[in-house]
Amino acid sequence: MIEHFANTHNLPKYKIDQFNNQYYKQAIPSFDKLSTWSKELRELLKQEVEFSTLTHIKDNHSSDGKTIKTEFKTKDGFDIEAVLMQYSDGRNSVCVSCMSGCPVGCSFCATGKMGFHRNLTYREIVDQILHFQRMLVPKGRRVTNLVYMGMGEPMLNLTNIEKSIDIVNNMDKLSIGIRHVTISTVGYVPQLKEFFSKGYIPRLAISLHAPNQKLRASIMSTISKLYPLEQLMEFATWYEDTYNKRITYEYTLIKGINDQPEHAIELSQLLYKRLAFVNLIKFNTYKDIDYEASSNNTVDRFRKVLENRGINTTTRRSMGSDIGGACGQLHPTNSSNT
Ligand code: SF4
Repeated sequence: MIEHFANTHNLPKYKIDQFNNQYYKQAIPSFDKLSTWSKELRELLKQEVEFSTLTHIKDNHSSDGKTIKTEFKTKDGFDIEAVLMQYSDGRNSVCVSCMSGCPVGCSFCATGKMGFHRNLTYREIVDQILHFQRMLVPKGRRVTNLVYMGMGEPMLNLTNIEKSIDIVNNMDKLSIGIRHVTISTVGYVPQLKEFFSKGYIPRLAISLHAPNQKLRASIMSTISKLYPLEQLMEFATWYEDTYNKRITYEYTLIKGINDQPEHAIELSQLLYKRLAFVNLIKFNTYKDIDYEASSNNTVDRFRKVLENRGINTTTRRSMGSDIGGACGQLHPTNSSNT
């Protein structure tokens, strides 16, 4: 956006550099603080460019203070949410949304229950990150990691995902290395191939949640009909062969549905000898979804079956579940601890 303004007003490159430094790196709270520009130029900028495309509604803080879920509205009134997770090792990871709602409708996901409103623009995606950057920079910190795991399916909003990564990854702008960016998808195979073929190589997480097509179709019917599990795993093979990189498989454990030892055995067979890492997630409850979370014992048993069969596995700590900010919980009515 600054490039368009600079072109229109014939600004020299150093003016863009000054802007980028203050807007993205110093994370100034308004264009009035763009101290490297003259007051006249700042006023012109304010008239022609929006400081943020999002209206901030509220921040919800988890009881341990490490997770903040922020609710925004787009200028045309749609709800979106993003989450900041602050880790003790110094990482500050932001989970961004790429849609308001989601058309895919996975049965365990609160966002899916919203229906689909619209795709977000690249600026609306970047403005979620900048909100947290503005919180962190005054404390001498910054956003270090980014996960496209919030509301919506990234592969259905590819152009805006790519444009946002261009800003995120740009050394003059947010300067977050591509190795610190993760794209999570339920598996839109053609779009995935298109995306990776263009040279974008962030980390890849596949929302798997079932070890076979039949079970996957029963809890993720939309994507399973379009791109059955076999096709998804063919893509995984192509990805491993092409990039020699590991894929993270997200697996939400739902009581009595996909959490039994036989499911773990089948999952280990599906991922045997693959460059795979399994991320087990305890189902996070939501009022409109009938599923229940598996017990800790069941989660441990599932993990041990996988590990005994040589599959690298971790159980994800669900940060922010008390504020409706954990995986599968993003929905504007879901903020219990505000
Ligand atoms: S899990 Fe992802 S793709 Fe499925 S409904 Fe939720 S946001 Fe959409």
